[in-house]
Amino acid sequence: MREKSDQPVPIDAAPPDGGSPGLLFGLDAEGLAAVLAGEGEASWRGKQIAEAMYSQYVTEVSSITTLSLELRRRLAEKGWQVGRPRIANTFQSCDGTERYLVECRPGDPSTVETVWMPEGDGGEAGDADNDTKDWSRATICVSSQVGCAVNCQFCLTAKLGLPAAGNLTPRGIAGQVVAVLDRHSVRVGRDRVNLVFMGMGEPFLNYDNFMAAVRLLVREVGLSPQRMTVSTSGVVPGIERFASEPADLRPKLAISLNAPNDQIRAEIMPINRKWPIAAVVDAVRRIRLRPHERITFEYVLLAGVTDQPEHAREVARLVRRTGLPAKVNLIAWNPGPGIPYTMPEPAAVAAFQGALIADGVPAYIRQPRGRDIFAACGQLKRTTEA
Ligand code: SAH
Ligand code: SF4
Repeated sequence: MREKSDQPVPIDAAPPDGGSPGLLFGLDAEGLAAVLAGEGEASWRGKQIAEAMYSQYVTEVSSITTLSLELRRRLAEKGWQVGRPRIANTFQSCDGTERYLVECRPGDPSTVETVWMPEGDGGEAGDADNDTKDWSRATICVSSQVGCAVNCQFCLTAKLGLPAAGNLTPRGIAGQVVAVLDRHSVRVGRDRVNLVFMGMGEPFLNYDNFMAAVRLLVREVGLSPQRMTVSTSGVVPGIERFASEPADLRPKLAISLNAPNDQIRAEIMPINRKWPIAAVVDAVRRIRLRPHERITFEYVLLAGVTDQPEHAREVARLVRRTGLPAKVNLIAWNPGPGIPYTMPEPAAVAAFQGALIADGVPAYIRQPRGRDIFAACGQLKRTTEA
């Protein structure tokens, strides 16, 4: 594993100085209140800006109509701008999935990937309000870093490594979500939208920024943490910190298990040499789960490497022994150029699921989404061909 620190990156909250623009998006109501106080305005106006950016999806200071024209002009003259991340490119899959390249900073051409996965309702929603949309629920897959340093052998994102300044800021993380909510005219509260932090990057190696983004999404955008799932490859210090987050701000947790034992796991996930399975499970046990909450173990099936019947029995034993309320999500490996694995046979995937269930472990098969546009799990690598 290429080691990276989880140093937070400044959140671009500083007031404009020397011509560098001040970006409002990414600040919470309190931060916005401080900006307004600095402009000699009543701090409650911060709430108006938050409402405009996070609920009405406004992207220009000039469009925040709850502020006086004079104040909007003054803020703009001083260099304040909304600065919400922008969808720079869109790829559409035949299954309804959309993959976006999102520019996180105005003028910065480096992009991250975000994926929209609608679930059709077969035209039976029947609600007049829903007439114009062809989905009843949707999931947004969000990136936390511009690449990844963890170097899992089966993952295309790993090939990018993690560039300097590869940690996304709260603005970059929450901004992906709001840009996609805006694109699909989602009304939070009415529409059912789930978030999965399973895009590019290891969220727990960018912990502070990741959790700051969650707080924004919960408090300002109004999304429920119970509809959010964060996936980690097993960064134990991150899981330990996560365990002490308050329940009203803590997403659900998924652990990328991906192998039945430490030996195979260390071969395909070098991070296992630092934090083996038992250490990860010990950290997960510290989390105080909500009623009915389960830990998800993700398991990527690599033909011949992790998809054999004896592997399924070992996984069932391992999961049962944790004593955790848990389920297993099986993911057939999605291929990528230059990655030396083979997709499992559908029969092997079904047999694996059957074996887990027979051994008393709930198991689901995650259907690949958007494979034709490189949007499926582990395929996010800023490919620009559709
Ligand atoms: N870095 C985090 C979250 C992003 S990866 C993590 O690893 O958990 C999200 C999921 O995609 C992980 O469970 C990972 O094991 C899986 N994955 C990675 N590459 C894949 C591929 N090529 N095919 C299928 N799943 C893959
Ligand atoms: Fe990083 Fe997750 Fe890919 Fe591993 S699977 S390289 S942790 S993005």
